[in-house]
Amino acid sequence: MSENPLQALFQTFVKISNSVQTHLSNLIGQPHHPSSPTAINPLLSFSFPSKSKVNPSNTDSAASLQPKHILDKGKSASPVTKEDLGRATWTFLHTLPAQYPDNPTRQQKKDVKELMAILSRMYPCKECADHFKEVLRVNPVQAGSHAEFSQWLCHVHNIVNRSLGKLVFPCERVDARWGKLECEQRACDLLGSTTEFGEEKH
Ligand code: FAD
Repeated sequence: MSENPLQALFQTFVKISNSVQTHLSNLIGQPHHPSSPTAINPLLSFSFPSKSKVNPSNTDSAASLQPKHILDKGKSASPVTKEDLGRATWTFLHTLPAQYPDNPTRQQKKDVKELMAILSRMYPCKECADHFKEVLRVNPVQAGSHAEFSQWLCHVHNIVNRSLGKLVFPCERVDARWGKLECEQRACDLLGSTTEFGEEKH
């Protein structure tokens, strides 16, 4: 049994992460070898103090939550690259339409447009933000339904892919690549509109 509640939480996270990677590996047809908590990613190789050793007055307890290899080398974390940021952001963005309802409310449609506009101003890579602003100008957001939103996003992601000399993604496979979140009893699903006027019934 785990001695530390953080350790139990971390092990649960590793299980979920392995499960997601296994599903993705099945999709792309490459084997995935589930990782141990320390092997999954060097940045996740935390060292956990055992409960008996935790001392609230110990100023080192925050340091014990740092990735172990950083503590070992006495270095600070390596900077996030443009590629890391891009992959994380695309994961967030593609998960939005995956969870988006077939019949969104007017508010949800407005929110998507605002979110994209804010991203094109605040994305923390200026050349990317400027490029995305231009992409949005030529390809205004289409988020009238789950299908419309996911196809539009796939299309604009492909515009970015092309500009970087990457392969384009087949948009008919977008739902297979970015499925709904695994969430007990669909508790993560966004509710949409139940009327033709785009507002929920009360
Ligand atoms: P990513 O392009 O990050 O894609 C992640 C995963 O999404 C892929 O592995 C694939 O499985 C899936 N995928 C790929 N294409 C699609 C698609 N069309 N639809 C659905 N799923 C897909 N980098 C720059 O250097 N210059 C820029 O101007 C720039 N602009 C960006 C603008 C935005 C809004 C974002 C979010 C990122 C931008 N980036 C930019 C980063 C760049 O797009 C990539 O994220 C980065 O180069 C890493 O690429 P990757 O090959 O790992 O896959």
